[in-house]
Amino acid sequence: MMRFFTRMYYSVAMLRHHRHLLAQVNNAPKKISRVTDISPQQLHEQGINVLVLDFDGVLAAHGEHHPNQGLSLWLDECVKVFGADHIFILSNKPLPSRIAYFQQHHFGVRCIKEVRKKPYPDGLEMIMQLTGQPATCIMLVDDRLLTGVLAACIAQVQVAYISKPYVNLKKRPIQELFFIGLRVAERRLIKWFSHL
Ligand SMILES: [Mg+2]
Repeated sequence: MMRFFTRMYYSVAMLRHHRHLLAQVNNAPKKISRVTDISPQQLHEQGINVLVLDFDGVLAAHGEHHPNQGLSLWLDECVKVFGADHIFILSNKPLPSRIAYFQQHHFGVRCIKEVRKKPYPDGLEMIMQLTGQPATCIMLVDDRLLTGVLAACIAQVQVAYISKPYVNLKKRPIQELFFIGLRVAERRLIKWFSHL
């Protein structure tokens, strides 16, 4: 419980510090709806060498154990372009079933675990150490402004904010509604902070 409040306090302090950058991401005219809107080849040409993917919302609806079936080809394409050792899954829920899935289907793609949750930049910093790549060559894809996007601002890595995350209201209505509400709240909060 204490850890939760410490993280909340840290999030608010960092939100205040990075409010203009967060507002920029929030107000970007060209939104990325889904992860498949991202062309691995194009990213690579723009100087990105390491791709870091959030799981919930980005690769599947909340709480799922595997990425959406339709993403399999896109993930293969990423592995082809970046190399499996330059792709990471950075989720605040690194479930064993998710780790096993990548071991089986996209071997070499690593799931970061045992680090402090986003928005702490620990996971991204670990990826910089593992790959030896500078922050400017790393891109995080995330659907949450005050966890993933904020962590990217703190670590100064590139970020792609997913505006239409995967949801499955039928399967997990309470959890999904909670996260939909959270997304609305964090957008408002960023707008409010950006006027300070
Ligand atoms: Mg997410």
